[in-house]
Amino acid sequence: MNTALNLVNVTLEYPDGDSTLKALDNVNLKLAAGEFLSLVGPSGSGKSSLLAVAATLVRPTAGLVVIGGIDAGGLSEAERTSLRRDRIGIIFQQPNLLPSLTALEQLVIRDHLRGKPAREATHRAAALLDLVGLGPAAGKRPHQLSGGQRQRVNIARALMGDPAVLLVDEPTAALDHDRSEAIVRLLRQVTDEFGVATVMVTHDTGFVPLTDTVAGMRDGLLSALQPVSPALA
Ligand code: ADP
Ligand code: MG
Repeated sequence: MNTALNLVNVTLEYPDGDSTLKALDNVNLKLAAGEFLSLVGPSGSGKSSLLAVAATLVRPTAGLVVIGGIDAGGLSEAERTSLRRDRIGIIFQQPNLLPSLTALEQLVIRDHLRGKPAREATHRAAALLDLVGLGPAAGKRPHQLSGGQRQRVNIARALMGDPAVLLVDEPTAALDHDRSEAIVRLLRQVTDEFGVATVMVTHDTGFVPLTDTVAGMRDGLLSALQPVSPALA
């Protein structure tokens, strides 16, 4: 299997008064390129902590985080920042778009930080906005876009690098059902087209059938991955 994301014996502890709280308790998770995982579980069970560690935003207390074959634990902070920029797409509930920039500029500026020529970045950004159905809205600023459209910009922006993994935290929490379903279908499409490994935290189990595998979290423990529908041989 072409492993895109590999978490090996990952533990994350936070100080909690006189003792410690295990946000992640010896988590193992291996995802192939093109695999789409739903991560479910009650509030406080460690879902966002798992994404933060996989995103290399938080260093685990113990264990390995391997992204596209690269062991993030062995990298300097600068190297981790590059790895995140180039190989990791992060899509959280609030798109955090810059209010003064157009949809196109939100994407271009992200690539500009990677030192790519502006013309190349503009081409790629325009193509990605087309892909997410926002071609005609490329010149609009966040306040001129709907919540669903802002989330689409967020998804397009996460694809500006060459991500091996997409880490998605409750992408539909602020959207109605139809818009939510459209967003999850779009995540399915980009997972297939770009061959990324996608982890989507969701509280809405109705969307699980659009993904390949599902796993539950409870008290920092990750359950075994279950296939959503058995492959038809
Ligand atoms: P979920 O996303 O499933 O709701 P989280 O990963 O946010 O869960 O949190 C898991 C546990 O870790 C919770 O008990 C939470 O309070 C704790 N936690 C999360 N972030 C921090 C932090 N920065 N400092 C201390 N405790 C934290
Ligand atoms: Mg959370």
